[in-house]
Amino acid sequence: MLTTNVTVGNKPFKPLITEAELQTRVRAMGRQITTDYSDRNPVLIGVLKGAAIFLSDLIREVKVPCSMTFMRIKSYSGTQSTGKISKELEFTEDIEGRHVIIVEDIVDTGNTARFLFEELKKHRPATIALATLLFKPMALLYPFKPDYTAFEIGNDFVVGYGLDYDEHGRNLKDIYVMESVS
Ligand code: 5GP
Repeated sequence: MLTTNVTVGNKPFKPLITEAELQTRVRAMGRQITTDYSDRNPVLIGVLKGAAIFLSDLIREVKVPCSMTFMRIKSYSGTQSTGKISKELEFTEDIEGRHVIIVEDIVDTGNTARFLFEELKKHRPATIALATLLFKPMALLYPFKPDYTAFEIGNDFVVGYGLDYDEHGRNLKDIYVMESVS
C-alpha cells in the first residue's frame, strides 16, 4: 500500500520501506535463521529500545526452539576532564554456552555492534551472531558485516518500525527517511 509523507518531531520524512516489504524480509531472515540453527536452540537478544518491534516479529518466524531477552546500553559522560562518553551494558541473563543472536535495529558506524560483541563475549556464550534490520554499509567504520541483514540503506536518518527520532515515530508501521532540507 502506498504511504504518504509524515512529520515526526517537526521534521519531514518520506516513505522508504513499506510494511509489506518489511514483513517479506523479516520472514526470509527467520527462515534463514531456522536453517542455520536447525541443530541449536538460539537465544535472541534485542537491543532496547529500537529492536523491540523487529525482534517481536523476527522470533515468530524462527521455527526452532529458541528464547528471547533484551539488553540496554547505558551511555554516560565521563569526568569533565576526559570528556569521554562511557557505555555500560545492562544485562543479567546467563548465556554461558548458549548460541546468541544479537538483534539490532540498525548498524550505522558499527560502534554499538563492536561494543556488544566485546561485552557479551565476557559472558562466555558458545557462539555470537548479529542480525540487523537495517545496515548502512557506507557509514561502517570497522571491517565486519552483520550475519543477517534485512535491508542495506544509504547514510540518511530513518524512523519507524521501532526506530525513533527523539522518541517519536517508533509506532510507524513503515520506515521513513528524513527529507533533506535544501
Ligand atoms: P552505530 O553507529 O553504533 O552503529 O549505531 C548507533 C545507534 O545509532 C543505533 O543503534 C541507532 O540507535 C542509532 N541510529 C543510527 N542511525 C540511525 C537512523 O538512521 N535512525 C535512527 N532512528 N537511529 C539511528
